[in-house]
This record gives sequence, structure tokens and C-alpha cells, in this order.
Amino acid sequence: MIIIIKILILKWCIIIKISHEVVQNEKIRTIVNSAYEDKEFISLMKGIMMESIESNSFYKEFAIKEKFNMDDLNQIEDLALIPFITTTTFKESTGMFKELLKIPLESPEFKTWNVSSCTTGDPSLVGRSLDDLEFLASMTIKCIYEFIPIPMEEHNQYGTISMNFSPNVTFLNRIAMRYTDLRPVKLYTSTLNEITTKITKPKYLIKFFIFKAFKEIIKRRSLVGAFGINAKYVIKTINKNSSKPDDKQKNISIGGSLQLLNTFMNKYLKEANINFDLPDSYITTGGGGWSGHKSQLKYPPIEKTQFVSDCIEFFGTKIENITDMYGFTETPIVFGSHWSDKYQNFIFHCPPQARIIIRDMNTLDPLRNVGDKGFLEVLTPFGVAASLNHAVLVDDLVELVSKNKCHECDYEGDTFIVQGRIEDKEGLGCSSLVEWI
Ligand SMILES: [Zn+2]
Repeated sequence: MIIIIKILILKWCIIIKISHEVVQNEKIRTIVNSAYEDKEFISLMKGIMMESIESNSFYKEFAIKEKFNMDDLNQIEDLALIPFITTTTFKESTGMFKELLKIPLESPEFKTWNVSSCTTGDPSLVGRSLDDLEFLASMTIKCIYEFIPIPMEEHNQYGTISMNFSPNVTFLNRIAMRYTDLRPVKLYTSTLNEITTKITKPKYLIKFFIFKAFKEIIKRRSLVGAFGINAKYVIKTINKNSSKPDDKQKNISIGGSLQLLNTFMNKYLKEANINFDLPDSYITTGGGGWSGHKSQLKYPPIEKTQFVSDCIEFFGTKIENITDMYGFTETPIVFGSHWSDKYQNFIFHCPPQARIIIRDMNTLDPLRNVGDKGFLEVLTPFGVAASLNHAVLVDDLVELVSKNKCHECDYEGDTFIVQGRIEDKEGLGCSSLVEWI
């Protein structure tokens, strides 16, 4: 059922400030709580360029080859002159991931390798320092606070019941061990999941069913089919909350894998004929997978308008409470969104800690007009201490929606729509979703 969708215009009058309780690291807290005007941003990018050239011989040569000249970097358009690294360069098969490091592996600053989720094939490996991980965590929290419209004071386990369509962090990290022999390693997805525990205590809904496990071992000699969604928990928890007096009820926040959430609505809830009425519920997906093509995993595509109307139909959620988050292993920036009635899509917003460039898919020249479509490049001077990821080009096709400000919510910065990953192109990426299920 496609319904006519009306979105409330959200105005970003409230400036989100992350507190000391959530992010203890003062340096990083100051960065995420600051707005960076173009001039300051360019100056910081110059700094990170200088540092990258000095600390990494590969980048030094690359910058010479690209004829990069620091003096050319003056205006915001000049950011396109910065030699960028493609996400493909971080693939394990290229053997380049160690060359992309700016700090020695044995240095105390080096913390872990973040690995993208790929069941088979070729994951990305991005070296991160403790500060890089702290920044990634803080940007994710900023994105959650800014784009999931739960009142900030209720955004914790006392005000919100949080359920995540994902296995728990320990399990995810065990999966990461299967992707690569490199150590220490952590799945990018599990890093993001771990971050949410700083503000809330989510219940992970992917469960191991012991009787199913026996059956699967006998039938298929595999345990994969022994995992399933803990649907009973969701129903019980929601009903228990709804039975309480209005002032005692908590918000319901549902997040995690798009595909699992979609399955839960269209298989489980539909077959059981369950429709909740939860105007104070919030639904957040992340990691993409709309096209039905998620690295090696294939399933029917999920139509965004249909998904949004399903969330409203099955959970009773308000349209402005449905958000999608976008990020990929190679950048520490996470982009938040809201639904757009006009575009029938999620509009993503570039935070002040980063800038984006859309590049032509063939020539890689920067495209500057609203409506232009191309590959996405993300630039940031923050959270990139360990690796060369201050300017990363990802093979996702995006469309530029507005420059400098969102016309729908007034959030400052460029906005874009993600059209999906470029299939059949060399260097097909793998971003952040559990796709083994
Ligand atoms: Zn907006």
C-alpha cells in the first residue's frame, strides 16, 4: 500500500551539544560540538595534507604525480584538487592497506583494523587509532541525536526501549575474525553498534535457536539456519510497554538491518495480523541494501516508499520518526537523514566536520550542480590519524540535492540522496550490514 506521505518540516533550531558524560575526550567533544566554516575547514585540510605527505611516502609520491600544490588550496572548490583515495584501495586483495597507514603498526596509538562486512570475497581494511575510533563514535552519536527525533533527555535506557535487528557485538566481532587473518580486527558494524551502547542499552534481536541448530547440523552441517529474529521478545516488550499508563510508557526505538526489519514486518507481523499503534516509536536503518544487492548477498530489492509506508502501517510510527543512516568503513563520517516527500527518498546531510564532492562516474571531474549524479567523495581532517582517509571516494552513486543548506529542514551543509551501489563496476564495495543471514 502506497500512502500519500506528508512530512513535517523539521527545523534545526536546537543546536545539539554532546555532553561530557557521553564523550569524555575533551578534544573530540570540542570537535563534534563545533561548526566549521569553509575558511577554517580549508585550513584544517591543508594541515592534514601536510601531515599525510610528511608521514606517508606513498601519498607523497601520489601528490607529486597528481601535481598537487598546497598554494592552490584556497577556496572550497579547491578541495577537489586534493588527491583522493578510492575505497577499492583499502581492499585486502590490493595489499595496500598497510601502506595507507600514517603511524607504525607497533605504535601505542594504533588501535585496530576496521573490517567491512563481506561474507566471502574482499573486505576493506582500515587502520584506526584510539582517537579515530573515538571520533567515529562521537560523530555517530551526534548523528543519532540530530536525526532520530527522540528528545535528548529521553535518549537513554530510562526513556527509551531500544531494539536492534542485529546479532550482539561479541558475535559480530567473532564474524570479523572469519573475514581476514589480520589482527587486531573489529567489524565496522560492530564498532557502530558498540557506540550506541554509550547512550542506550539495546536488545539485540538476532537469536541463536538451539533446537534449530541441531536440525541444521543434521540437515546441512551448518549453523547458519539456526539464527532467527527474536520476534516474541519484540511483541512482548511492546505490549508490556503499551499496557502501562501514558506517562509511564517509554519511547520504542527500532534499528538495525534493513532487510531483517523488512522481513519482520512483511512476514512475521503480516502473517500474525499484528499492527501496532506506536506514534512514539522511532525506526532507524543503516548500511544500505535497498537494491537487494549487498556485496555477495542477494534478495529482492526493498522499495523505499513501500518500506516507509510499511513502518507506518505495522508500527504506527510517524513519518518524521523514520530515518536512514549512511556511512562506510573507510570514512569516520556518518550521515543522518530524514524522509523527503518531494523526493520520495531519504535526504542525507553533510555535517560541519566534513565536506562532500560528487564526481562524474567516467571522468571523475567534480560536479557542482543540484541534480548532478556521480560517485561520492567524503573529505574530513578529523578521525584520520592512522590512515590516509581524509579524502575518500566511494563507489556509491549519489545525487546532489542542495548546496550549503537543506531546503526542507535548514540543516547547514550539502545534502544528497543515495541511489545505490554501482553494480558490475570494478571495485564493488562492501559497506556496513550483516549479510550472513
Ligand atoms: Zn534536511
